[in-house]
Amino acid sequence: MPYKAEDAKLYDAHARAPQEVVEGLSADIGKGLDDEEVKKRWAKHGPNKLPKKEEASAFKIFIKQFKDFLILILFIAAGIAFMADHLIDTYIILAVILFNAVMGFIQEYRAEQAVEAIKSMVKHEVTVLRHGEQVTLTPEQVVMGDVLLLKEGQSVAADARIIDTHNLRTNESSLTGESEPVVKKTEKIKEGTELADRKNMVWKGTSVVKGSGKAIVTAIGAKTEIGKIAKSLKEMEKTESNFRKKTAKLAQKMAALAIFTASIVFILGYFVRGFDFEQILLVTIATLVSSIPEGLPVVISIVLAIGANRMAKRNAIIREFTATEVLGSVSTILTDKTGTITQSVLTVKKMFGGDKKEREITGLGYSLDGAIQENDSKVVTARDGEIILKNSLIARFGNKAFIKKETDEKSNGEEELSVTGNPTELALQVLGRKSRIDELEPYKFVEELDDIPFNSEQKYRAKLVQTRESEKIMLVTGAPEKLLDYSSEVLTDKGTESMNRQLKEEIVRKNDEWADDAMRVLGLAHKYMPEDTVEISTYDVKDLIWTGIVGMIDPSRPEVKEAIADCRRAGIRVIMVTGDHAKTAAAIARDVGILDEQRGGNNNGYPQALTESEISKLGDDELDDMIQHVSVFARVSPSTKLRVAERLQESGELIAMTGDGVNDAPALKKADVGIAMGQKGTDVAKDAAQIVLSDDNFASIVKAIEEGRIVFKNVKITSYFLLTTNFAATSTLIAGLSLGFPVPLTAVQILWVNMVTDGIMDVALATEPGHGEMMDRKPIKKNEHILTWDVVPFLVIMAALMVTLAIYAFSYFLPRGTEAARAGAFVAVSSTQIFNAFNMRHLHKSVFSIGIGGNKWINIAFIVSVILQLAVIKIDWFRNIFGFGEISYLEFAVIFLGSSMVLLGGEIYKKIRKTFGV
Ligand code: ADP
Ligand code: MG
Repeated sequence: MPYKAEDAKLYDAHARAPQEVVEGLSADIGKGLDDEEVKKRWAKHGPNKLPKKEEASAFKIFIKQFKDFLILILFIAAGIAFMADHLIDTYIILAVILFNAVMGFIQEYRAEQAVEAIKSMVKHEVTVLRHGEQVTLTPEQVVMGDVLLLKEGQSVAADARIIDTHNLRTNESSLTGESEPVVKKTEKIKEGTELADRKNMVWKGTSVVKGSGKAIVTAIGAKTEIGKIAKSLKEMEKTESNFRKKTAKLAQKMAALAIFTASIVFILGYFVRGFDFEQILLVTIATLVSSIPEGLPVVISIVLAIGANRMAKRNAIIREFTATEVLGSVSTILTDKTGTITQSVLTVKKMFGGDKKEREITGLGYSLDGAIQENDSKVVTARDGEIILKNSLIARFGNKAFIKKETDEKSNGEEELSVTGNPTELALQVLGRKSRIDELEPYKFVEELDDIPFNSEQKYRAKLVQTRESEKIMLVTGAPEKLLDYSSEVLTDKGTESMNRQLKEEIVRKNDEWADDAMRVLGLAHKYMPEDTVEISTYDVKDLIWTGIVGMIDPSRPEVKEAIADCRRAGIRVIMVTGDHAKTAAAIARDVGILDEQRGGNNNGYPQALTESEISKLGDDELDDMIQHVSVFARVSPSTKLRVAERLQESGELIAMTGDGVNDAPALKKADVGIAMGQKGTDVAKDAAQIVLSDDNFASIVKAIEEGRIVFKNVKITSYFLLTTNFAATSTLIAGLSLGFPVPLTAVQILWVNMVTDGIMDVALATEPGHGEMMDRKPIKKNEHILTWDVVPFLVIMAALMVTLAIYAFSYFLPRGTEAARAGAFVAVSSTQIFNAFNMRHLHKSVFSIGIGGNKWINIAFIVSVILQLAVIKIDWFRNIFGFGEISYLEFAVIFLGSSMVLLGGEIYKKIRKTFGV
């Protein structure tokens, strides 16, 4: 069957030989498509995107606003008003319902968009062969017939037929539910074989867990297998988060209080005071609605969205919303070393070979300026003996990093370096270049035949190269002790000899010495392979010829020291978990302050660092004890990382944990907050994490934690605000009724205060910043409630003040009639609430000390609320609708200023607490 381009899919690719598929797609394995062809195909099929999942469409979000239990009560209220012939009340209640729905909609919609925008900041990359070069694209840009270069840790961008594999294994659980990695092959398979058994295909949405390979794209976008079932694609199960439970609990408490007070209003009004049933029913319903925290969910999602946004600005991208809040409770951070604590710009500074000579390398970073020097600064190159030559060969051709000199026309012919690859390998590349091995005839064209990429379990990488005719060498780089184990021979200045104990000890000593200086030490080894070798596997990595070790520096990031000091102040423990050598790890840990400087070598009798082999000998109890005292775990693989994380969680710690590799995924999932590296992290790690660090920087984690604490604080202050104001409004009614007054506020008046004034002020409060003290206290306890007893006096005093002022205003105007009295009470109730919002900006500090201009939104909200208040009081049309009597501007001003007593009261309360330390 020929390629039906219209379909954006080549059917039955699995049942054809690779060559057939390539021809069918008019593709080119060697060079990939050219730009012309790519354009054509793109124009025909469009971007390689999945059809959007049932979108949370605007309409749906809008409708959702009406599905609330509280809105139902309001509808009932409107119905009652209608039947009682209170037509104006009916319209106003309906208008309030609409207003509430619109507000809720706008906020929820924006929050949703914000989260989507933030999520889309996490980018996946694909490498594709085009016009003979490797290019990096976003998955959307992939077209039919593109040649995908698959790498460990990447997610697969499209459905594709495999044409080349090096031990390629993929995880297809997202498609088939099978969690074991699937081994891939290239041979054709019987037509109609089930999806899960089409081993010569890779599928969009799955990921490469091991090995590498090439595949040619046979279906894109909606035509891919996952595109077909996009709807049934299981979303990450939404477990009820701890935070949701907390907010639900708060809402319950507030609702219970609301029902209680509303019943009092009803009993007082109907039985004691004998008001008209319909009227009191409306008031009761209004009370109920005004004191039920229907604004709470909206305001909390706003707080979370603002938090997520601020975190994104500080380089922590939130993938799961509630993680913003969990961050505030983090008590232990388990962090990687390379790239997170350190800059990850490595430079090889030392080289040590079988002649027991230590050589220095000059230069810094990825600049090629510098040279290898022997003692007395004599410059040596790859021409100077077999030891330097072989070490240079391994450094230069034993990895996948890539440095290209580009002559940039704009910079006047100056040479620019373009570097790609992992920093450890780049450092080796730079060393290779500095050795000038490329100038030697046999090494001008070194052909790569096969590659075993690095992974943190095996801790080495290997490459098979052909240097000249009939010379095939395997070049191995990795953790020195591993390579020593695998080496039976050693390259000395007298040629290859068998490895002896004495030399081994010397190497280990050198390794330790460098590691103590915070250097990352790598071993280099090689092995001549039979002439007919075309592939290598991990079984070949034995009987190696040990060639040398190199020491690289990786300076710590300057901002990390301060971030770690912040953690200490904030009661957060920092533990370093690294694949690197124990001494290197401890030296860096000492440098940035993870290990206490003063304690020096004496860590209360505990070691400074533990390695995996030491940990594996410990039972859980012993390990728990060690974890209490040891903050550096070295030479660990992901499985041990997971174990340490689990032990910490077992002992009640709430942990944030970083990771980058495929094997880190389980630990990232297990951690309370999984943090993936945005730059060096694999797609798999990013997908498993809740947060992606766009700059890989430890300091960003700490900033995100600070934002997390702000989120929790803002949830508190916004709910306290709602609680106080609701409580004050209902208490005003109860007080008025008990004092023998007419009903102080009608249903629509209460609804206005509740929806408009409170709504505006509360949303503004949600934007409150942190005031620089968030990291001065211990982490928020996992089970800390939002409402705690210590704030109750504050809230009750404020509410009492509000009620007093409102009732006073009411009674003052009462001689001018109930409607004027209501106008007075209304202005008092809403103004006191406006002022109380300022109280709530900080629960302990004076607003004037934190800066009255520190939250511009609250000042804008202040002005808007006052204007709206004036409008309903002073514009006749509104005034009549709401049933207010006339009061003058002066009277308005007096009540408004009088209401500022609430702010004064708040200030005095804070002052007293501070002075007496209660
Ligand atoms: P970490 O990132 O925590 O420093 P890794 O797991 O990346 O640790 O590395 C562990 C060890 O494996 C390193 O100390 C080094 O000896 C070796 N290693 C790391 N990266 C490479 C690489 N790309 N090629 C060869 N060996 C490597
Ligand atoms: Mg690493």
